[in-house]
Amino acid sequence: MMLKERLAALKKRIPPQTCLIAVSKTHPASSILEAYACGQRVYGENKVQELCAKQEELPGDIEWHMIGHLQSNKVKYIAPFVALIHGVDSLKLLKTIDKEGRKNKRIIPCLLQVHIAEESSKFGFSPEELREMLAAGAWQELEFVEVRGLMGMATFTEDKAQVQREFHSLKVLFDEVKERYFADSSDFKELSMGMSDDFELAIEAGSTMVRVGSALFGARDYNL
Ligand SMILES: *Cc1c(COP(=O)(O)O)cnc(C)c1O
Repeated sequence: MMLKERLAALKKRIPPQTCLIAVSKTHPASSILEAYACGQRVYGENKVQELCAKQEELPGDIEWHMIGHLQSNKVKYIAPFVALIHGVDSLKLLKTIDKEGRKNKRIIPCLLQVHIAEESSKFGFSPEELREMLAAGAWQELEFVEVRGLMGMATFTEDKAQVQREFHSLKVLFDEVKERYFADSSDFKELSMGMSDDFELAIEAGSTMVRVGSALFGARDYNL
């Protein structure tokens, strides 16, 4: 199948109100341009250097999402243009994004990453850490970040019930946090969950953004 056909097939499986983020990491600019020609405008990358290089080279109306782990010292490179940072996993990082937003005179939209998978991972707040961070309140003083919602990744497993459970737990946490801290805000509305192998389960569980790479661009070759 050609990329054009894969994109069309994918879109049939994703409701129109759900945002499709085309995860283009490791794939060349030419592949992005192919999807761009079919109308796809939202792309996700997980490495700052690759994101910046592609942003410079490709059309200006592309919406670039940073979906990977972000180090504080690299925020400055993406702050001028990034449309959404998905992986905010500490107050320190949120404060750095705020500082860079101020320098760039723009409010930077962010998602707080929550660790929902059974697998041990260094990244993401635990639900308890997230509650503590939000309750402490310091984040509310940040003027140049806008917390738009939550992001999470399910365990990499064949066990469908487990993946469903994990997505459901993130949706429940999302609703809890929304009610407690963002009841008056229309900005807190995004739940970024679901990838090539599990986006349909994620959508069923209430995802508003799916991050799809290999199902669109094919397998990644990290040795290129
Ligand atoms: C690579 C990546 C994806 C896309 O993965 P696929 O399985 O290729 O769809 C989604 N989210 C994050 C955070 C990623 O790093």
